[in-house]
Amino acid sequence: MNYERLVKLYDSIEKTTKRLEKTYLVAEFLRKTDVDDIRQIILLLQGRVFPKYDSRTLGVASRMIIKAISKSYGMTETKVESEWKRTGDLGDAAEYLAKNKKQATLFSTKLTVKKVFNNLLKIAKLEGSGAVERKTGMIAELLTSAEPIEARYIVRTVLEDLRVGIGEGVLRDSIVWAFFGDSININYDQEKKIIEPENRETYNMYVEKVQEAYDILNDFSEVAELAKTSGLKGLKSVGLKVGKPIKVMLFIKAKSIKDAFERVGKPAAIEYKYDGFRMQIHRNKDVIKIFTRRLEDVTAQFPEVIEYVKDHIEGNNYIIDAEAVGYDPKTKKYLPFQSISQRIKRKYNIKELSEDFPVELNVFDVIMFEGESFLKEPFKERRKIIEKYIKEENLKIRTAKQIITSDEKEAEDFYKRSLADGEEGVMFKNLEGIYKPGARVGYGVKVKPVMESLDLVIVGAEWGEGKRSGWLTSFTLACYDKEKERFLEIGKVGTGIKELEGAGVTFEQLTQLIKPLIKEEKGRSVTITPQIVIEVNYEEIQKSPTYSSGYALRFPRVIRIRDDKAPDEASDTEMIRRLYSTQRSR
Ligand code: AMP
Repeated sequence: MNYERLVKLYDSIEKTTKRLEKTYLVAEFLRKTDVDDIRQIILLLQGRVFPKYDSRTLGVASRMIIKAISKSYGMTETKVESEWKRTGDLGDAAEYLAKNKKQATLFSTKLTVKKVFNNLLKIAKLEGSGAVERKTGMIAELLTSAEPIEARYIVRTVLEDLRVGIGEGVLRDSIVWAFFGDSININYDQEKKIIEPENRETYNMYVEKVQEAYDILNDFSEVAELAKTSGLKGLKSVGLKVGKPIKVMLFIKAKSIKDAFERVGKPAAIEYKYDGFRMQIHRNKDVIKIFTRRLEDVTAQFPEVIEYVKDHIEGNNYIIDAEAVGYDPKTKKYLPFQSISQRIKRKYNIKELSEDFPVELNVFDVIMFEGESFLKEPFKERRKIIEKYIKEENLKIRTAKQIITSDEKEAEDFYKRSLADGEEGVMFKNLEGIYKPGARVGYGVKVKPVMESLDLVIVGAEWGEGKRSGWLTSFTLACYDKEKERFLEIGKVGTGIKELEGAGVTFEQLTQLIKPLIKEEKGRSVTITPQIVIEVNYEEIQKSPTYSSGYALRFPRVIRIRDDKAPDEASDTEMIRRLYSTQRSR
């Protein structure tokens, strides 16, 4: 297929904001697409060459594209840059420059979808020395043969920023329409832009089947190909496969214990809600894989978990759902998620890290066992499996702590115990609920204390040690006391690890911000003019003699820098007193 056809589709989709019109356009296009092209088309419609769960990227920076445009259209990089500035979009800039290029193309072949897709694939796979030049060359090759409008979308796709507005819902519905439209008799009202299936129920059934296949395959290109080649039977045959991650089931939040019971029914299974890191673990004999909730493969990062699974779960072929919780190797106490978050992306010193920040695996669900899918089995049956086949050992692997009750008082006590043990709250689960991948269904709800975030002022810091000796790493936070008109300390954040991660700032950046505000230095400690306000989340407010406010925060985490707030607008002591006394866990 010529790339131009796809580009025309992009363009018309971009011009409408109406979801149904988009669905119609995509569906009609898919209907006319050859089976050989379908997978590439679906991926390119999403602006990607790999399905979402595959974390590989093209790794192309704007700089390379500027070079490629300059090379293809025979103009200086400065000219490309100024056009980029003018239009604000490098794709639009490429389109404009392609129209006005000096170098006439002597002979050019029309770009095909295959050519574009294959070049993108090659770009993604290039690594090591010379990769930048070769990637640039590959982009330039495409741009040279591209029509102006094609150049616009090549650039956006290469930048992994297509933005035409085809969401998952549109894609799913288009697949239904394209491949099952005839059997449901869908009519499209061009004027009112509405879709009228003759039989809504059947239509919904198809939508559900496509969605179910997608929840397992995580790849619309595979779903579409199946639908086109094998119809409903094909979709129904989609099964779990060990080694291929599926979307995890998600939970909604309940307001209270009472509300939780109302949502899941009585009796309910109530479990500790561990504050860790979700792991979907797949085992096929000796091959064990660990995926995150975003379906990234983190097997290499958690060697100890592989051992626990091997030694403590009977069975050869299964998929389980669990939460890995960090603990302090000295005190054996659970640690909040932040303490282990650095393990997820780590590529080196993995063994040391696993000794310094070990995890305990708390298994709470099973998705497949000994080749049999448990997706449609009630939760109470799934729980039986994990209880039966897991040999528990403290600090290695356990089944999630659970009670089954209809009694609110008992539930409340269990909830308090979970918080006292340093966990986040509890999960309520419907005993009959099935496992719904990807869905936030009401079969499980979570109850955890709602904490209002605090705006606090940085009043002190400490220079780091070793590799971090050039940075300030530990920040003393203060609230504002309106009566005393003074800043009172309430805790520290950023002593280690990734407490800053959520804020998207690094120690270096904070150091740069704070350095000019240093009032006094004593050893490694510095005092700072109160000026920078940051928003902080925490687990709990505690009474504490350590800080001048009389309170301390348990597990503070930085959410963002509030440069829109003045220091005296920080949370005041009165508010902290109120939050302390209304905390649910007391
Ligand atoms: P949240 O991230 O607040 O939406 O809460 C849901 C998350 O809690 C899940 O994705 C799991 O990672 C985690 N979790 C911890 N303990 C459990 C449990 N016993 N059952 C289910 N999920 C749990």
